[in-house]
Amino acid sequence: MNIADRPGPLLGSSVLGRYLETLVSDLSRLNIGDIATYIPQLGLADPTDFGVAIVTADGRQYKAGTCDRRVTIQSVSKPFMYGQALDQFGREVVLKSVGVEPTGERFNAIVLDEANNRAFNPMVNSGAIVTAALLTRDTPAQSEADMLALFSRLAGRQLDIDMPVFHSEHETGHRNRAIAWLMVNAGIIEPEPDKVLDLYFKQCSVLVDCTDLAAMACTLAKRGTQPFTGEQVFTPDTTRDILSVMTTCGMYDYAGQWVYDVGLPAKSGVSGMIMAVVPGQLGLAVYSPLLDSVGNSVRGIEVCRRFARDFGLHTCASALDPGGAIRRVYTAREVRSLRQRTVAERAVLDGAGALFEAVELTGPLYFAAAERVAHRTAEAAQRARTVVLDLTRVESIDKGALDILRRVASLTASESCRFHVTGIPDRLKADLAEALSAWNGTAVLAYPTTESALEAFEDGVLTGSGAIGIGDVMRLSQADIFKGLGPEDIAVLERAASTFSYAAGDRIITHGDDALAVYVVARGVVSITIPLGSGTRRISAVGAGQAFGEMAMLDGGRRSANAVASGAVICHAFAIDAIRQIAKDHPHIYAVILSNLVRSLSDRLRAANEQLGTFG
Ligand code: GLN
Repeated sequence: MNIADRPGPLLGSSVLGRYLETLVSDLSRLNIGDIATYIPQLGLADPTDFGVAIVTADGRQYKAGTCDRRVTIQSVSKPFMYGQALDQFGREVVLKSVGVEPTGERFNAIVLDEANNRAFNPMVNSGAIVTAALLTRDTPAQSEADMLALFSRLAGRQLDIDMPVFHSEHETGHRNRAIAWLMVNAGIIEPEPDKVLDLYFKQCSVLVDCTDLAAMACTLAKRGTQPFTGEQVFTPDTTRDILSVMTTCGMYDYAGQWVYDVGLPAKSGVSGMIMAVVPGQLGLAVYSPLLDSVGNSVRGIEVCRRFARDFGLHTCASALDPGGAIRRVYTAREVRSLRQRTVAERAVLDGAGALFEAVELTGPLYFAAAERVAHRTAEAAQRARTVVLDLTRVESIDKGALDILRRVASLTASESCRFHVTGIPDRLKADLAEALSAWNGTAVLAYPTTESALEAFEDGVLTGSGAIGIGDVMRLSQADIFKGLGPEDIAVLERAASTFSYAAGDRIITHGDDALAVYVVARGVVSITIPLGSGTRRISAVGAGQAFGEMAMLDGGRRSANAVASGAVICHAFAIDAIRQIAKDHPHIYAVILSNLVRSLSDRLRAANEQLGTFG
């Protein structure tokens, strides 16, 4: 990706763009601090420069001020080199030569953690030089290429080195040389500090603008995934480690007060850059070269302080409310499956509805939300025989929540209650399958939707009660639509009927076709679907003893839906012409059928109204 491909910024017309513009214009009046001159080339900076950029986890960018000025990244490079070392060598190796304790001293203090014979932390110069030593290759060109490749992946575009700044620091960086030689003396780094310092000075001289840096910060906010390119640059574990050290050590000897005031992991550099990270949400970068006595950008600190305060982003002030995790809870009493049931079946289901409970979840699931869900599920498991957790509206599940769900699955199952997780969004499928497979995932994941679990529950209840015999062929006299007719009338109907068999997936009726017959299911289940987009949606299903396509009898028009065999199906079909003939020859049969039909339509309307009432 190059700069031309970068998603366009959202400037003044956006809410956050305006906010940033106001912030920049307010804080431009803050004219205190000094430009760093100890690296002579940095002294050339324009003190009026002031830019801010935000990149959100979704990859949207907002900016204001001189945010396109490209300046050297300086110490803000340190967390990224640290991350690279962690990913490449692992924690244990890295911790041998650089720890994670704040120094409380200046960034360029000549101090070492003598008790452990290592640098205190990777955010001060000594620790950053050790980190650079770990990443130094055979030749300076190789080290430089690796380093630039890393920073470019983090920014989402190719970055370069500002050679004049590099030379300027190379010529004057004797203090850093002293630190390096001190570490050679202590045996912490190999006695070739020139190569190491070459890399360190170059990493400090990488040119970035505020958007680059905000995108790099956002990569840390997104557990290592670059927001523009989607590339996983660091592992989530490494990202967590980087942010931890930024929190405790990122702002030099101001780190404690910084966490107290702002509460975000951050890193500053002497060029006047500060980047701050709101984990999971965004990366923020500020550039203003006027520094305070500690070496932090005065306006940069103020921007972060205001931003964190205005939007309540201090990490210790997190106000996540797990209350919304449960969207609604219902039993099979309030909600029926889409399957039409006969009058007799409905009576049985009415008595058993409370034995099925569905808990619909929403939003991100994290520890506190999942704990709430676990508690609610345990309650449901005491009453119901089937408990369903519906994840259709869940956006994300973190590791802790997954672990809780896994425990819910195993606990609930041991309590004579079936537990199913349904509606799992595609993006969460792999994680859930892995978490639940350890514990009998097949049963837990047996139903893709709550609807299918509900239908299976109802079937189970009905089979158990003997109300339906799966596999039985229903006689015409048992069909709801022919209820009230005597044996002779049934004989008339039998003569008019033709019987057909279908295999799973066979179309019995097609939407839009002329309606020429009415069907009664003798065995199996027929799904009624309507066209929706490029596919279809199941709106209902009928089983043995029930009619479909019966509207044809009333209006003889076109089919308003498809009818598809769900499995092996046997149907009795009555041609509309044959029914007209019966109406003529046996008007009382026709009258009974019509009145049954009206009752079944009004039943369905009533049920539909009730469901609407339940969900508002
Ligand atoms: N290159 C600078 C130095 O080593 C980086 C220091 C900083 O940004 N705090 O002095």
